[in-house]
Amino acid sequence: MNKNSEQIVIDFLKSIGEDPNRAGLIDTPKRISKMWKEVFSGYDENNRPKITLFDNGADGVEYKQMVIDTGYFFSHCEHHGVPFFGTYYFAYIPGKKVMGLSKVSRVVDYHSSKLQIQERLVKDIVDHIENDINPKGIALVINARHLCKEMRGVKKINSSMTTSELRGAFYDDSRTRQEFLGFVNSRLTTNPA
Ligand code: ZN
Repeated sequence: MNKNSEQIVIDFLKSIGEDPNRAGLIDTPKRISKMWKEVFSGYDENNRPKITLFDNGADGVEYKQMVIDTGYFFSHCEHHGVPFFGTYYFAYIPGKKVMGLSKVSRVVDYHSSKLQIQERLVKDIVDHIENDINPKGIALVINARHLCKEMRGVKKINSSMTTSELRGAFYDDSRTRQEFLGFVNSRLTTNPA
């Protein structure tokens, strides 16, 4: 980020009644500006991850089952600018291509690194991956805690919100959907957000 964002932090400190010149805060504008660059890196298209693809069946075995990847994410809500964060459950059934699985978390990070709402975040991630790999089915469930609901307003501590996006076989075939949602449910029960 730039001088401008450091000045914004200085103005913010003044506006809440702080003295930006006191010793403990001297480097704070620089630090916050640097952090913004990291946590909002999703606005820079150059950071958009490229998904590594492999031919499905190239070694003589074509994979036709569900592949699942889960992990954590952190984002910021666009209404209050505070974090929402939690767990994602991603699954796909390969078509002609299989993807390098480490890329799922990179795509999740990329779309999380901007002001978001949880409903759009699931769509952005699924759109990105579906478009690149054209799978037989793709699904994403996100379970997240929203600090705007916990630290302010209704102060609902430890509440969580779940959003999902199911396409292809995960939408059309109830058995596939049940298999995936059953997996997600068992994880959510043992490991709530
Ligand atoms: Zn919010």
